[in-house]
Amino acid sequence: MTIAALHDLTDAAACPRIVLKIGSSLLVDGAGKARRDWLDTIAAEIAALRRAGQQVVVVSSGAIALGAAQMGLAKGGRGSLADAQAAASVGQIALASLWSDKLAAQGLTAAQLLLTLDDLEDRRRYLNAASTLARLLESGAVPVVNENDSVATEEIRFGDNDRLAARVAQAARADAVLLLSDVDGLYDRNPRETGAALVPLVRGIDDTVRAMADGGSASGLGSGGMTSKLQAAEIAERAGIALAIVNGTHPAPIAHALDGGIGTLFLPRRRDRARKAWLGGRLRLRGVLTVDAGCAAALAEGGSLLAAGVTGVEGEFARGDAVAVHDGTGRAIAHGLAEYAAAECAALQGRRSAEHADILGYAPRAAVIHRDHMVLL
Ligand code: GLU
Repeated sequence: MTIAALHDLTDAAACPRIVLKIGSSLLVDGAGKARRDWLDTIAAEIAALRRAGQQVVVVSSGAIALGAAQMGLAKGGRGSLADAQAAASVGQIALASLWSDKLAAQGLTAAQLLLTLDDLEDRRRYLNAASTLARLLESGAVPVVNENDSVATEEIRFGDNDRLAARVAQAARADAVLLLSDVDGLYDRNPRETGAALVPLVRGIDDTVRAMADGGSASGLGSGGMTSKLQAAEIAERAGIALAIVNGTHPAPIAHALDGGIGTLFLPRRRDRARKAWLGGRLRLRGVLTVDAGCAAALAEGGSLLAAGVTGVEGEFARGDAVAVHDGTGRAIAHGLAEYAAAECAALQGRRSAEHADILGYAPRAAVIHRDHMVLL
């Protein structure tokens, strides 16, 4: 069985493992208080899913909103990075104990996992997080994940839990991600415009779909707008994981959204192998290699990236670092691990393989990015 419709997300046969992402505006009310009654209902739903044989990972926002209220910080704790870090430190304790209490009341064990971007971008640390998640799920616990906002700085943070949830789903080898938010799903234009219609199903995200998202968080409590949700859907899609956006504001939100069939379901068109999916979902890249049309065509046919087709090199990267590959129009067409550092790439760009040994003064590598270390976007 595979996932074909929203209600399949709670079918243990079609979707043995699911990641539930819960936005700040669902967990915390306008006064900064936890919505305990709502939490009771979702904890009961999680328990029901578990009894039906589904494994559940929760990615929960709300630390910054809870902490900001407790500390009396302006702008919900999002006025500055320092405020967000401090609010998260205070709020994460409250958030973890809420989940621990609510799940315990349902006979479930909550397990906290606080991750930074690098925990999922560095391959070794990613595999480490993946094995922790696997062990927790095997033991029957419910992992409750958040970004470690108190130590994350601007350059090294996800900043939104939508993309974090998609990366966690990859690491947990989940079948689907359910983003519970305060919007009904993706609309074909700004939902405040008259005539805007909800898009129920997306098979593959392209520029038309991207143009529908408008950025910005509707509630002002979280940081994820539709743009970050679409980015999350792209990460999931590349890994062969379905992703749905539904409105979770009602009590018992999962049943309410899925039974009503209201939301947007993104179905994957492909399933890259695990390592390539990880590479394709990387958010932080050290540089950019721009390539000419002939090279772009060769990559599309599965070839390695050769120096002769490179027309530009940007960024400071070392051998083995992840870089983006852009075509002549600036569109990202691939991610890959560079075989050379940036300066070597610049020296070799546009030059034929036969010249490489002379330019470098040592034995050259077969390609600038080998096809085994590259994923097309
Ligand atoms: N990690 C943040 C928090 O716990 C939420 C990020 C988001 O809004 O997506 O408050």
